[in-house]
Amino acid sequence: TPGALASGVRTLFPVLEQRIHGAALAYLDNAATTQVPLPVLAAMRHFEAHDRANIHRGVHTLSQRATDAFEQARSDLKRFVGAGAGHELVFTSGTTEALNLVAHGLSAAQPGGAFLQPGDEIIVSGLEHHANLVPWQQAARRSGAMLRVLLPDAQGRLHAQDLACLLTPRTRVFALTACANATGETPPFAALLAQAAQAGALTVLDAAQAVGHTVIDLSALACDFMAFSGHKMYGPMGTGALVGRMAALERLAPLRYGGDMVERVSYTDAAFAPLPSRLEGGTPNVASAVGMAAAATFIGHIGRAAIDAHVQALRAHAVAGLAAIEGITVLAPHATTSAIASFVTPHAHPHDIGTLLDAQGIAVRTGHHCAQPLLDHLGTGPTTRASFGLYNTHDEVERLIAGVAHALEVLR
Ligand code: PMP
Repeated sequence: TPGALASGVRTLFPVLEQRIHGAALAYLDNAATTQVPLPVLAAMRHFEAHDRANIHRGVHTLSQRATDAFEQARSDLKRFVGAGAGHELVFTSGTTEALNLVAHGLSAAQPGGAFLQPGDEIIVSGLEHHANLVPWQQAARRSGAMLRVLLPDAQGRLHAQDLACLLTPRTRVFALTACANATGETPPFAALLAQAAQAGALTVLDAAQAVGHTVIDLSALACDFMAFSGHKMYGPMGTGALVGRMAALERLAPLRYGGDMVERVSYTDAAFAPLPSRLEGGTPNVASAVGMAAAATFIGHIGRAAIDAHVQALRAHAVAGLAAIEGITVLAPHATTSAIASFVTPHAHPHDIGTLLDAQGIAVRTGHHCAQPLLDHLGTGPTTRASFGLYNTHDEVERLIAGVAHALEVLR
């Protein structure tokens, strides 16, 4: 039944039980950061209260327990995304660091030479968050490779025939999002990655907006590297992962040199540890890794199919209601599998709409959503974005629609 999921789980998210400016909080900013349920907080607290110690080096019991907790988190998260024996997972501070690790790692000088060479080509889609664009701009600069952009059409869609036109024998990398955070567009990423892999490119998937509700099965994808963040899947902030094919991860130069990632060190040289340690220099955020794995377990208990159906229904409800308001244009209305409803109107600035919604306890995000080139290309400018999580209700969507209609009356 509609909303059954939300009513069953809401009590696990104490942050939602508050009033903002006198109204019940309607938290509709889940594409930026989701909230954390009690079982995830409990897992992190348990680690900090009982098992906290530095990992991998200690012979003492706490260090071994901490190491076990960290490695268990790694294997739980690998299972969560369908990573198999040929894959490895590297913990990072989030999607941004994971994508920087790939772009830097393929362009930095290495003993065997950098993977990217002058005249090579990198293709990024035009839907990308700055985190999957700016690192590639830098990689191109560092290596002398050329950066090409797979531009979307006027509706914000990507097309296989446009990718076919860009792929050449020099294409070494294709980077794509599973869902565009600014518009909610969900490109056919499996087919596009397969097309690029077929042409010989390494493929990179930004799954930040997908893993919280969409089943991502790496074993069935032509994907060499995939990045995601804990805080967008009901886990802690400041942690994330890069999962990749072993052979692809072996190509990366480390982003961080130092402790934990070496095998042997002299004053003049070092031999590096095998994966995943080679790419995880320094003390990791162990409690957050544990929390992120607990979030994956939490999602598994509820079921990604149920979460996906719920957020898609909320999005459809929001898109229908918002599009019916005179003067509102919803971006990517066709993107029925996303959890993001982003809209514009010539009658009011998103910042003002967001401020009036906040006065009614409704939290949305406004602006460029770290995807300025895309919104410039589409000619929309900044947007107002509502995004849905498993705890949101259809009642909250009704409040959003009424709140936006009211804001437009005030601002028009
Ligand atoms: N990619 C996408 C599609 C995103 O939505 C975000 C977060 N808004 C990021 C990358 C960056 O994630 P993080 O800030 O967790 O590194």
